[in-house]
Amino acid sequence: MLAPERSAEAIATEKMVLDTVRALVRDKVAPRAAQIDATGEYPKDIADLFARNGLLGIPFPEEYGGLGSFLTYVKVVEEVSKACATSALIIAVQELGALPIMIAGNEAQKRAYLPKLASGEMMTSYALTEPTSGSDAANMRTTARREGDWYVLNGTKVFITNVAVADICIVFAMTDPTLGPKGASAFICHTDDPGFKLGKVEHKMGIRGSPTNEVILDNCRIPADRRLGEEGEGFRIAMATLDKSRPGVAAQALGIAQGALDFAARYLQERVAFGKPLAKQQGLQWMVADMDCEIQAARLLLYEAASRCDAGGPDVTYWGALCKLKCGDVAMRVTTDAVQLLGGYGYMTEYPVERMMRDAKITQIYEGTQQIQRIVIARKILGK
Ligand SMILES: Cc1cc2nc3c(=O)[nH]c(=O)nc-3n(C[C@H](O)[C@H](O)[C@H](O)COP(=O)(O)OP(=O)(O)OC[C@H]3O[C@@H](n4cnc5c(N)ncnc54)[C@H](O)[C@@H]3O)c2cc1C
Repeated sequence: MLAPERSAEAIATEKMVLDTVRALVRDKVAPRAAQIDATGEYPKDIADLFARNGLLGIPFPEEYGGLGSFLTYVKVVEEVSKACATSALIIAVQELGALPIMIAGNEAQKRAYLPKLASGEMMTSYALTEPTSGSDAANMRTTARREGDWYVLNGTKVFITNVAVADICIVFAMTDPTLGPKGASAFICHTDDPGFKLGKVEHKMGIRGSPTNEVILDNCRIPADRRLGEEGEGFRIAMATLDKSRPGVAAQALGIAQGALDFAARYLQERVAFGKPLAKQQGLQWMVADMDCEIQAARLLLYEAASRCDAGGPDVTYWGALCKLKCGDVAMRVTTDAVQLLGGYGYMTEYPVERMMRDAKITQIYEGTQQIQRIVIARKILGK
């Protein structure tokens, strides 16, 4: 069954937002993309640009400064990703690190954080992964010990996106390690809390302008009222967050794929071989047709998943997995084909498709690998 129709007002607002985003991407983001990749530097100017234009809190409820639309949000991430996957990740991580508060925060926590995250006054991050628990996230070792009105956190998180530029970080830790996943809790840490330290900086294949860091929690002491939900609800909060953040990764993948196809299609019209443009070669036309067909199919799945997030349906786990699996695989295939279509030039950093191919790969890995998405999907079809 398709997701419900939207109001004319929501559609008009979305059009306005997307017109703005397209202009910003054309004038400000696209010209910076190659440089961001080459230097590996976080584009603070782009983050500020997004903040000024109200792009950091689109899926947040309106009462906390957002637009209240996951569908508009994924379309924005898609548009930015056509030019620069690193820049799009700024918007996507702001959603990822705000979702636990939207899902499990009490009113005081929502009021304290969400409006500032929506405006960009505050930036966030999300720390679930540990050295020994990635896909097997429930196997985390970080602990949170209650001491009166405080919690003391100890442990190491790895691969945490944008924590180096964030003001807060949602940290998942075991309040009762004897209970397995039911012993995990979620906390809002401030990155200047005592004992919250940044560790190793990772050097990456793609999305090179997004800093990725180890986080060391060394007797990190935080007030007890920064716990999200009840003790023991952390794993549920972490998974409910991923259900709604995976469409953001899917949108990033889809945008990368569309950007690569658009570039390759222009190249084929211009590059002449054997006395005619490459676009006249039927073998290449068929490749382009297959790339477009895959992108269009992935887009329908993504928009359906995002609409279901908006509708608040119970099936977002399944749809989030479906769209991330499809869009991630399409991005990898389309960008690889785009490199092929450009021949030797496709392999050179002078052209953007090799960057797009490197950027595409991460969408098959983070926020649950493609194998994990298949497990989620199969569970719905076959049961646990
Ligand atoms: C650039 C980058 C940014 C990231 N950002 C964040 C972040 O901001 N916050 C955060 O918390 N995490 C982040 N991550 C972590 C990311 O989510 C994990 O790397 C990912 O979930 C995979 O975990 P792992 O690396 O431990 O791989 P593993 O879990 O060790 O998996 C290794 C391989 O085995 C496969 N596999 C594992 N279990 C199964 C199974 N049961 N069946 C079949 N195959 C299986 C996997 O699919 C994978 O191919 C980031 C990672 C990267 C690379």
